[in-house]
Amino acid sequence: MSAEHPPEEHSHLSDMDLHVRALRTVLEQKGYIEAPALDVLIDTYENKIGPRNGARVVARAWVDPAFRKWLLEDATAAIASLGYTGRQGEYMVAVENTESRHNIIVCTLCSCYPWPVLGLPPVWYKSAPYRARAVKDPRGVLSDFGVTLPTTTEIRVWDSTAEVRYLVIPRRPAGSDDLGEERLAELVTRDSMIGTGLAKTPGKA
Ligand code: FE
Repeated sequence: MSAEHPPEEHSHLSDMDLHVRALRTVLEQKGYIEAPALDVLIDTYENKIGPRNGARVVARAWVDPAFRKWLLEDATAAIASLGYTGRQGEYMVAVENTESRHNIIVCTLCSCYPWPVLGLPPVWYKSAPYRARAVKDPRGVLSDFGVTLPTTTEIRVWDSTAEVRYLVIPRRPAGSDDLGEERLAELVTRDSMIGTGLAKTPGKA
């Protein structure tokens, strides 16, 4: 897979983003806002609030075969039915991990990411090494994240664009048969929905 889509299809800094950055700098210099406080806010949306939406989508797909089918056929509509819509999620595609195929998401040109289900992208997602290596050596990237898959498992890399954003449906972990949707959602990590991680096993930290 190569980066064949033109740059204008990607979400580079808009005028609004530039204004926001300039404003942030001025406010920081004048002492009205503190960078650490902003970092806490960003961390909240990056790790705590944002990805929980996606986790609920995945948990629903695990317990409801009809929803899973809908999600795979029309992710935008299935996700919207749970109330998760908005910018950077106008056209969603869900890809499902199985024993024979593992999916991993990247944006080779910038940082396209499904905001309504995952929140803000982590720093590494936007980094040049991840963007380059996810395509060339996805198994090596997975290893860096502590994930080792059987060589019989094909790894498929999906390149996000401004038009299409992907959500990985991780495999439902063993030992989760008796759990309800809420408990299942707690097992779904942000990285498992990008494909750089697996869902947590019940009972493990
Ligand atoms: Fe992009």
